[in-house]
Amino acid sequence: MILVGLTGGIGSGKSTVSSLLEAKGAIILDADAIVREVQLPGSPVLTELAAKFGQEVLAADGSLDRQAVANIVFSDPDALKALNSIVHPAVGKEMNRRMIEQRTTEHVVILDIPLLTENPREGLQGKIVVDVPVEVQVERLVKFRGFDETDARARMSRQATREQRLATADFVVDNSGGLQELEPQIEKLWAWLKSLPQLPPDYEPVTPIPNAGSKSSDAKS
Ligand code: ADP
Repeated sequence: MILVGLTGGIGSGKSTVSSLLEAKGAIILDADAIVREVQLPGSPVLTELAAKFGQEVLAADGSLDRQAVANIVFSDPDALKALNSIVHPAVGKEMNRRMIEQRTTEHVVILDIPLLTENPREGLQGKIVVDVPVEVQVERLVKFRGFDETDARARMSRQATREQRLATADFVVDNSGGLQELEPQIEKLWAWLKSLPQLPPDYEPVTPIPNAGSKSSDAKS
């Protein structure tokens, strides 16, 4: 297994880059998707969230009302801490379980983690940062993802800055251009990924670096 992280700001193009890498044969472990899975109705995480924050975080169909949770934690750092202490361990555990499934293979495994800069992890062979100028990020969030501009900017302001993210990068994908401009970069990225050494089959799961995070949240990024 070859193991790297992929990150970028909200709307930078992480999912787009992940799909292109998946088409090359990479295994994508998508932290956002895992967050949603561990919070499905009937899950211990959802039960704990309802116990902590009250029934108002449950939608009529019994699923998690993510907006209700976002409203609670928005201006309450203690509530955000409590939320993270319930959700993060479950996500980490599931991610590690999926990684362990892959460690005896020769696959390139990509951990797509929106807040990787804010919550660094040990044990990755490298970090890919998908980079776009702030104004492009806002424009795409408004145009393609239905965001209100103020909301897009507010979410971005709660994430690491472009500079902080770039400072952690081993490979930068510049997604400021069109999709056709991504293709040659994906070719180069894939060649770089394949050049990394295979990890041993008993490789231990990567873990968050203790106390490294300060801006973590479960917001969709
Ligand atoms: P992220 O996963 O980082 O939040 P996405 O991959 O979902 O970002 O990209 C945000 C939006 O911008 C999506 O609607 C996507 O289709 C679009 N998009 C991504 N890259 C480009 C690009 N190079 N040109 C135009 N639109 C793009």
